[in-house]
Amino acid sequence: MRYLSANWIFPLHIPPIKEGVIQLSDKGEVINLFNSRRKAYSDKLEIFDGVLCPGFVNAHCHLELSHLLGIAEKGNGFLEFAGTIRKRDDFSEIEKQNEIEKAEQQMIDNGIVAVGDICNTTDTLIQKQKENLKYYNFIEAFGVDENKVNTIFSQSMELRNKFRNAGQKATIVPHAPYSVPPSLMRKISNAFDNKDILISIHMQETKEENQLFENKDGIFLDWLIGMNANKEIWEKRINSTYVLKELGRKKIILIHNTFIQKQDVTDNYYCTCPKANLYIEKMLPDYSIFDADKLCVGTDSLASNNSLSILEELNIIQENSNFDLNTLLKIACKNGANALGFEQLGTFEKGKIPGVNLIGNLDGVKVTAESFIQVI
Ligand SMILES: [Zn+2]
Repeated sequence: MRYLSANWIFPLHIPPIKEGVIQLSDKGEVINLFNSRRKAYSDKLEIFDGVLCPGFVNAHCHLELSHLLGIAEKGNGFLEFAGTIRKRDDFSEIEKQNEIEKAEQQMIDNGIVAVGDICNTTDTLIQKQKENLKYYNFIEAFGVDENKVNTIFSQSMELRNKFRNAGQKATIVPHAPYSVPPSLMRKISNAFDNKDILISIHMQETKEENQLFENKDGIFLDWLIGMNANKEIWEKRINSTYVLKELGRKKIILIHNTFIQKQDVTDNYYCTCPKANLYIEKMLPDYSIFDADKLCVGTDSLASNNSLSILEELNIIQENSNFDLNTLLKIACKNGANALGFEQLGTFEKGKIPGVNLIGNLDGVKVTAESFIQVI
């Protein structure tokens, strides 16, 4: 049994507790929370300088792209970035596996306990089967040519089954509104079964995406026409969020939302990846338009980020929003756990096994660039 205390405890299902105590079993289950050190009645009290919060949930990553660290040039926009991703196969299996293992270890060291991870391959499966972290795997389908829809869908189904057969949570999801025609969107929607919890989709990551749907022009249109894309992608859709209708009333997490406007916001979950947005587009979403209870945070991959650290992402969000530390930590822990269906994670509610992070070197209750994470 452990009794942990710090300047503040952020349980996230209740307001922060000044100099509170959290009692944990040997396997990390929350047994009790005390609102003062005197009430904990323990001579085993461990007191830390900083704040204690649950383990972080990285709601959006592409672990299989970890070997692309530093390959993409910064700030050149999405189409340039997509070109870099096509270099993903210019590496040996050993290089890829090593970088996946290192990236996972980095997430563990940074206090991450669960990941919403996009998969186009089985490259990450060996590492995930070690069960160091919890993963919700989003098996990503994309392809704009109508003639290839059936092949793409059956490949996705095969990949999903490989993940499921390995004991992993896995759901087929569309990559983005501009990369999946309505017929494939419907197939994905129809494949959703009782093992699936939610769908993810990249959304409004670039202004060219909005331009494609709203004006039916721009470089995305030229790019799609060059790939023999089905015209229904842009002709039948009036904006990016139109595809949510095609997916039906499922739980959905929308990723990036860098160019979202207030009128586009729905009651779905939203995931922001601020460092990746700055890396690719030099832009951030307007954080004031989101429901803070539905906002999650992700690192995206090491192809568009120099680290996999939720704390660093929070620092950027804090500098560009009015969120207080309790709200930021809900975004980092509780909301991601709720979105991805990890019921044991996200808060210090009794009975959960959420992991415990110490955030040290804060400026009062503000995260700074010098703040650090220690897994307790
Ligand atoms: Zn992504």
